[in-house]
Amino acid sequence: MDHEEFRKWSHRAADWGADYRGTLRQRPVRAQAQPGDIAALIAPSAPETPEPMEKIFSEFERDIMPGMTHWQHPRFFAYFPANAAPVSVVAEYLVSAIAAQCMLWQTSPAATELETKVIDWLRQALGLPEGFSGVIQDSASSATLSAVLVMRERALGWSGNRSGLSGQPRLRVYSSDQVHTSIDRAIWVSGIGEENLVRVPTGGRWRSMTPDALEAAIKADVAAGHLPAGVIACVGGTSVGATDDIAAIGAIARRYGLYLHVDAAWAGSAMICPEFRHFWTGIEEADSIVFNPHKWLGAQFDCSIHFVRDPESLVRTLAIKPEYLKTHGKDGVVNYSEWTVPLGRRFRALKLWFLLRAHGLEGLREMIRNHVRWSEKLASRLAEVPGFEIVTEPMLSLFSFRHQARDEHMTDEHNLALVTAINDDGRIYLTQTRIDGRVAIRFQAGQFDATEADVDAAFHAITEIASGLNGGKA
Ligand SMILES: *Cc1c(COP(=O)(O)O)cnc(C)c1O
Repeated sequence: MDHEEFRKWSHRAADWGADYRGTLRQRPVRAQAQPGDIAALIAPSAPETPEPMEKIFSEFERDIMPGMTHWQHPRFFAYFPANAAPVSVVAEYLVSAIAAQCMLWQTSPAATELETKVIDWLRQALGLPEGFSGVIQDSASSATLSAVLVMRERALGWSGNRSGLSGQPRLRVYSSDQVHTSIDRAIWVSGIGEENLVRVPTGGRWRSMTPDALEAAIKADVAAGHLPAGVIACVGGTSVGATDDIAAIGAIARRYGLYLHVDAAWAGSAMICPEFRHFWTGIEEADSIVFNPHKWLGAQFDCSIHFVRDPESLVRTLAIKPEYLKTHGKDGVVNYSEWTVPLGRRFRALKLWFLLRAHGLEGLREMIRNHVRWSEKLASRLAEVPGFEIVTEPMLSLFSFRHQARDEHMTDEHNLALVTAINDDGRIYLTQTRIDGRVAIRFQAGQFDATEADVDAAFHAITEIASGLNGGKA
């Protein structure tokens, strides 16, 4: 492809993107493909000779798009959002045209310096005190892995990378049973091992880790000769928004000299609104925090902010300096690849800079406040409809509900069938979870372009389809 062709197809792609975003409401939210449908349309091997772009592009539209689930659909109420505001897509066009590797300051000084700046913009926007710095990671999973590696190294006197874990006391990490599976994987990959992730019981409205139980577990481990390393708390857990009492957990972590990592991957975005910050009171006690602007805030995936109080310990854990990565004569500059597991780095700060400027914090706050309000309203409307039960009250914009089956022993099957029927219908998209062993349906409002009418459409789709499943009766 020469430069003129590149121009032509870039225009075509931009037009396609704008048409796509403008017509999303006409499409079923979840892909309606069956397993193997798309694979059957793809050639078994790569072509030996070039094919015309026109053909490739039209087959993309014809064969690939029917197999896509539309995460930017305004009636996407499943999982958590993965918002890519149009302005962040524009920034990503530029980033992908430049295609720089931003691993060291000198491999693109603007990328490093803008990253430092936008992280500090976000620190202020979230109401975090000075003293937190940070790095943009690809995902919360990577940030949590880095945090667990720091916990490990700190607890072992910085000897784990060199000597490994054999012959060491058992490292112990504490979390509730509501944390995301990325915590399990970080524990596996760091070599600490699942058996040493202590699941502290939860209680109360927000399913928070019980502070007394945490302290008792730490004491028992110390008495047994184990080595407590850190605590992973969550604010806005994935299933139903479980939220730990950060102030209480932080005080215990500090008392026992443990590292505290806070996973606020989804809920962190809401902290740009001061009225929601009570959900993480005490956050200044954390050693590290992760939140994903690629979820609720609108920064195209991938964009995960890993705030740290002490970058030295992160760099001490992860930096490797072979000769070819040394940047002579530029000491004192930040090389962000020393803060992360991967070496290569995309220029992720640009989309944040575009996004935060084009919408302003006030614009983003308004979006989040609307989502929370619409979700609360939907929960109270559903609670009024006979046959519906709100299982967990809204935590920000996430709640869960259940519909009564005609045969009460079939409630789980009925609710699974309801989610499937709703997603086959295509007007909206929802996912299920299990709460205390029983199926519940999750609802979260969070898509960037969603309107109150889209949430009303969810009410109608849910109640209509549920009543249809029960033979027309609520
Ligand atoms: C989504 C989510 C994660 C994982 O985020 P990735 O960026 O996909 O790794 C971790 N924790 C919580 C609470 C989440 O909601």
